[in-house]
Amino acid sequence: MRLTIVGTGYVGLVTGACLADTGNDVVGTDKDPEKIDALRQGECPIFEPGLAELLNTNVKTGRLRFTTDLAEAIRHGEVIFIAVGTPPLGDGSTDLTAVHAVADAIADHIEGPKIVAIKSTVPVGTGDAFEERINRRSKHRVCVVSNPEFLKEGTAIGDFLKPDRVVIGAEDPSAAAVIKELHEPFVRNQRPMFIMSRSAAEMTKYAANAYLSTRISFINQIASICDRLGINVNEVRSGMGSDARIGFHFLYPGAGYGGSCFPKDVQALVHIAQRAGVEADLLHSVHQVNQRQREVLFHKIVARFGESLTGVCFAIWGVAFKPKTDDIREAPAVVLIEKLLEAGATVRAHDPAALDNLRRQFGDRLTYHESNYEVLDGADALAIVTEWNEFRSPSFDEIERRLRHPILFDGRNLYSLEAMRTRRFEYYSIGRPAVNGAPSA
Ligand code: NAD
Repeated sequence: MRLTIVGTGYVGLVTGACLADTGNDVVGTDKDPEKIDALRQGECPIFEPGLAELLNTNVKTGRLRFTTDLAEAIRHGEVIFIAVGTPPLGDGSTDLTAVHAVADAIADHIEGPKIVAIKSTVPVGTGDAFEERINRRSKHRVCVVSNPEFLKEGTAIGDFLKPDRVVIGAEDPSAAAVIKELHEPFVRNQRPMFIMSRSAAEMTKYAANAYLSTRISFINQIASICDRLGINVNEVRSGMGSDARIGFHFLYPGAGYGGSCFPKDVQALVHIAQRAGVEADLLHSVHQVNQRQREVLFHKIVARFGESLTGVCFAIWGVAFKPKTDDIREAPAVVLIEKLLEAGATVRAHDPAALDNLRRQFGDRLTYHESNYEVLDGADALAIVTEWNEFRSPSFDEIERRLRHPILFDGRNLYSLEAMRTRRFEYYSIGRPAVNGAPSA
């Protein structure tokens, strides 16, 4: 089938590459000419495991190509997938400028009936409004389907190729059937495809992200209470998560959730609820708890080193919002670095994939290091914010040799308290008693 992908970011590129890989004829377009230029030269503009290889293979066969010519791209696809950004506005509601711009372009350029599948996360009712907007402006009929995307950065290819489920929201059964057929190759392991109303599909995406965020904020709140009571939250987590009704997934205490989805989607759902006359106080609290949680490491640092951090140097391990991505949008590490710099500290940062993005944001306000050991040289303490695999079993001798003091702030509870005690590290983690340090820190 001839397909168009509008927006070649994390979602659009993965969608385009995976759909080309099953034999479709895919054209990707984006308003960012540099991105399209890079893609045409065979470069992958983002770090996502397996994506560069998949793009390459499919570009070589001619099943996948890229253009900045939006009109040409729109004319190409029998189905047009929308994967443009839907960032938050200042009040937390959703900025739909890009979605509206694409709707108008579709209305202006189509030369026959089309199916438009919205992959972007959009407020309930957007699909209805989108369809009406195009059909008012164009003489050709467009059917809009909500097809929310559940992939996770870092494992996006695997998630797309083997989704837990596919959600298709459509008012027109024949349009739903086309989107279902496109996904058949990915659900051969009998995973379900749910066909529902367009609004229910839009709501499903928010409900799923809000629930996962709620679990994270829940365990982080429990961790804060444990912290004050001198209890190890990991023991509580074991006892609690073993209940078959609860489980362990998304129940990891840490430095808070980030990324371009959870923070914005929780706030957007608060707005959707308010517009519907519902006070979403639970979701509001989930967001508030997370805002505080992203500052927890900083407060532990201040409790240890004092309010003014002038002359104090910190090494940071991990700045991406989670492992296996280069994405630093809303990353807890960005919040920590900003606060450390404000308090007068100097910062040396290391991340296996996200340093270029960090450099674009912070310029020469800090230094950037490719080696996770070299970054420690001369630093007064190490703060770990993202749980990249390579940080799980480091050489503690090397860490101790390079740091000025063996002080570790661990925002992801990577090490056992016993191991830190034995190695005589001063160690502060999340919801667990400090080791060899001040209990209040
Ligand atoms: P992104 O910022 O990586 O990519 C969006 C792309 O859209 C950019 O390349 C941008 O240049 C392009 N764009 C913006 N306006 C455009 C326009 N008018 N015409 C053409 N291109 C335009 O964003 P993303 O992370 O891929 O997310 C896209 C959508 O998918 C969002 O709604 C997001 O909430 C949702 N989503 C994201 C993820 C994720 O893990 N990143 C997962 C599921 C859903």
